[in-house]
Amino acid sequence: MPLSPKLSPKPSAKRSVKPSPGFTLGQLTHSDTALRLGLDNRPPPEHLANLRRLAAMLEAIEGVLGHPLKLTSAYRNPQVNRAVGGVPTSRHALGLAADFVCPGFGPPLEVARAIALSALDIDQVIHEYGRWVHAGLATPGAAARRQHLTICSTEEGYLEGLLPCAPASRASGIQA
Ligand SMILES: [Zn+2]
Repeated sequence: MPLSPKLSPKPSAKRSVKPSPGFTLGQLTHSDTALRLGLDNRPPPEHLANLRRLAAMLEAIEGVLGHPLKLTSAYRNPQVNRAVGGVPTSRHALGLAADFVCPGFGPPLEVARAIALSALDIDQVIHEYGRWVHAGLATPGAAARRQHLTICSTEEGYLEGLLPCAPASRASGIQA
């Protein structure tokens, strides 16, 4: 990925077709599932502003971690969101959330904790199945709740705080 580590979060993202210098719309809308199923994952115009905010958030997270993020899933339009088993209210379907890992920094739990400890105004940081981090922004106009949650299994559901998952419980399941 053409990403360079940055030392401090960018205060504002320039308005352009490209969401930000660091993350392209192509990266944010990439979906293996969409490609596999032949689904169109392009966002409608009303989601572009959200995707710009998302790109700025991801760059700021890279600034905090000092290493590039590897996105596993970001934007999922409603059709693609259904196909991956995402809940209908998923922030991914609004262009307000991304799932990622940051191997240069450490395992997902450490990444989630570092983000939670930062000053970034992120609505939700979720450690998911011990395998990746979900970061989501508040909907436009709403205040960030700064929730920190863990999900290790669908049976157990969401737990308060950023906690380790036992390897045995690392089943893949729903994606918030
Ligand atoms: Zn997610």
